[in-house]
Parts: sequence; structure tokens; C-alpha cells
Amino acid sequence: TTISPFLDPGPRTKANSLAILQLSRDNLLPVYLQPPTGEHDGYAEGAVVNTRYGSFPHSTMLNVPWGSQIRASKVDTGSRGRKRKRDGADDACREATGTGDKENEESPAAANEDSTAAVKTAVADTSGFIHILPPTPELWTTSLPHRTQVVYTPDYSYILHRIRARPGSVLIEAGAGSGSFTHASVRAVYNGYPAEGQRKGKVFSFEFHEQRYHMMKKELSDHGMDRLVHLTHRDVYNGGFLVDGKSPEADAVFLDLPAPWEALPHLSRRKPQTAPNSDGAVAEDNQTEWVSPLNPKKSVHICTFSPCIEQVTRTVSAMRRLGWVDIDMVEIANRKLHTSRERVGLNLNFDRGVNNSARDVEEALARLEEIESRSREHAAKPRDDDEDMESADEAAKLDTDANGNQAVAPGENGAPTTPPWMEGRLITRGEPEIKTHTSYLVFAVLPMEWTDEDEAAAAAKYPLGK
Ligand code: SAM
Repeated sequence: TTISPFLDPGPRTKANSLAILQLSRDNLLPVYLQPPTGEHDGYAEGAVVNTRYGSFPHSTMLNVPWGSQIRASKVDTGSRGRKRKRDGADDACREATGTGDKENEESPAAANEDSTAAVKTAVADTSGFIHILPPTPELWTTSLPHRTQVVYTPDYSYILHRIRARPGSVLIEAGAGSGSFTHASVRAVYNGYPAEGQRKGKVFSFEFHEQRYHMMKKELSDHGMDRLVHLTHRDVYNGGFLVDGKSPEADAVFLDLPAPWEALPHLSRRKPQTAPNSDGAVAEDNQTEWVSPLNPKKSVHICTFSPCIEQVTRTVSAMRRLGWVDIDMVEIANRKLHTSRERVGLNLNFDRGVNNSARDVEEALARLEEIESRSREHAAKPRDDDEDMESADEAAKLDTDANGNQAVAPGENGAPTTPPWMEGRLITRGEPEIKTHTSYLVFAVLPMEWTDEDEAAAAAKYPLGK
């Protein structure tokens, strides 16, 4: 049995397995690599991923180390223009000559609205490249086919930490939606082949939308996760969380549902008191038949995920009535920082939204030429020891920015020894404002029930006064 590529991708890409193609920095495309079986889908070269700047036959992406750069195919079957749209990879790629930030910018041709022109480029230009990456929950979250709103990495990393999802945990999740959270939680609880007496980490996931349930079921099987996730097609408000009448004995719960308070009564330790009806009558208690889906031997940690504060209020109120404690709410305000290097004296402002004129670029190039010619003069100048010391100090001052980053490190004969990617001042910019609100995260704990037997066992183990 093979382990999910999300958990152990191995050193190289494989046929019939998921790979994530990185077309540009934020443009990822999940692809199941096809084996080289000769003719595929009507094309002699086999399955091909087509992008605006080149075509990538699966055969060129098989059995290569993860992270490899893949060059566009030189062979043109004439099929590429026709297949562009279907692969959904048409709006990105980059040129092989690009470096650093430039790689991630759309070239002017990529922004061309004229699709005919773009198709011609695709056929003619074979200089493009992509990178092939192993699947991870983070990459899957950015590239998965959306069926619903999803939980993103900044939220789920914090949630999994707070609900104490760890190798060997059993986790209940509802609803499964597009499976973004599911993938992250599988990795968090996975513990391979646990030692005797230890539980196997597992996710019990619930989804009531039939089509989403089937899509998710297929994805889990394609990703080798079907034995780690037990997916049930159910409305949890009415049906609760037992599986085949048995308790999953969950240690942690995550609810991404419109009305978490409707699911909470099913997540008690004992059958909750039925609310009195309009006549004030309480339904007869049948406690003996009720099974809790929670681990009776541990405190259970929960998170509910709701976009509106009204949902939070109702959830918190239900939690209090049902005995949950340590209730608190958190909102994750994630902020991306863009870090790049800028050459000293050059401020091209390309990614600051400044309208660059040809004159700006000319000035910048002239300034660069000046810096380089000064550096050549410095190299040619005869030195005595004192002067050397002084100029070295001076150079260090000049070439170091306010943060102490070295801009250029001249070598023995003045030639820069700094590798190109280390050149320039390190500049960090935040996004101008915090992006959209995702959801409010409500956390709570349901303590373990402490019985007379537990007390007797504890007293025997730790006798008081001894
Ligand atoms: N957390 C998911 C992710 O990261 O991809 C997204 C969940 S989506 C926002 C909410 C899901 O809950 C929907 O797919 C919806 O069909 C499901 N859902 C809503 N009410 C439900 C119920 N009573 N029982 C089970 N699933 C339900």
C-alpha cells in the first residue's frame, strides 16, 4: 500500500500521482501525471499541459526530482493552441530568461487580450519553463478546485494548533466543503503505524451536499487518503456524528457550518436536556441509548468558524449551556510581507504602482553605469596599507544600508563577489491594509468527566499526605 503523496512524496515525481505545477509565483496547477503510454488523448506525444508560453508533455515531467525546472517542449504537434483553455493554464507562465522578481511578473505578451495572438506565441515560443512541486496541504489549498469557501493556511495552521491536533489525534470535521481543511488536518494527525496501545490518527469528516460529498470521496481516494479520512454523507444537525452507530471518540472538533449551535448538542458527553416545548413539557429522557462521539478519557478541544458576529453569539451561548469552558474568540488578521532586493542608487519602483517612463529607466541605467565605472576605477588604483584600511571602511559604510545589509562586496581586485541574488538592499513592504475578513474562530474545551472510579484510581496512584 502506498502512502499519500501529501505525507510522503518520495524524492521524485511518479506516474499516476498528483504534482503541483508552479506556472508563476501565485499560479499553481494541480496535475495527475500520466504514464507514457504512447498516444494519449489523440496526441502522439501523450498527455500535455499547455500554457501560453509553451507546452509541457507529461513524459518530460516524470521521474524528475521534486522542485525541478521543466523547460517547454521543442516539439510542436499543432495541438497546443486548441487545448489551452481546457487545461486552465492559459494565463500564466514566464520566460526562461527571467530572474528574481521579474520571473513572477506577467510579461506584456501574457497580458495580451487577443487570444489568437497568444496562441501563436504558444506555438512559436518554446523558451518558457515551470517548476514541479510535491503536493502539500498549503499548495493544495491554493490550487484546489473550489466548490465552496475554503479555510486558508493562516487560519487552519492556528486552528490545528489550538485544538491540539497532533500525530495520533482523532478529529471530527463538518462540513468537508472543498477539503482544504481536511488535507491540513490529515497531515496533522497522521502517525503512520502507531505503537501498541496508541491510537491511529484519523479524521471523521461530514458533508451533507451530495455532489460535494462524491467529489471529495474521489479526491481523497486519488490522494491516497481514503484510509485516513472517514467521509460520511450526512446532515449533522439532525444526524449527529456517530459512524455506523459507534463513537469516533474524537479528541478535537472543527465546525465550518452555517449554524454550529445546531450541531453542538450532538457533541456532548451525555444526552443534553431537551428544551421544554411551548407547554413547558420536557421530552422523556432515554439517556441509556445515547452515545457520545467524544473521547471519554480526554478533554475535547473545539473550534467553530463563522463569518458573522451573530453566529458567534449564538454559538457561544450554546457552548455555555452545554458545559464548554475556556470559551474565547480570535480573528486571524494575516498580512503578507513582500521582501525583495533593490540595487543601491536604483529605485525602479516597478512593483509600487508608479508609472515608469522611459526616462526613469534611462536615468537608472546611467546611474548603474556610473557605479560600475567607479568600481572599475577603484580596482585599478594602486594602494598602500593605510589607504586600503580607510577605503575599506569607507566602502563598508557606503555599501551598507540602514539595516546593515551589504549591498556590494568587492573582491580582491574590486570585482563584486556577492552572488547576483544577494545584491542590493533588502526591502520589505507590507500590504497597504489588512485584506478581507475571513471568519471568527471560537475556541472552547469540554472537560473530561470525572467519575468516582477516576477519583479512586487517582487516589490510589497519588495517595494524599504521603
Ligand atoms: N472547511 C471547508 C474547506 O476548508 O474546504 C469548507 C466548508 S464550507 C464553507 C461548508 C460546508 O458545510 C458546505 O460544503 C456545506 O454543504 C456543508 N454543510 C452545511 N450544513 C451542513 C450540515 N448540516 N451537515 C453537513 N454538512 C453541512
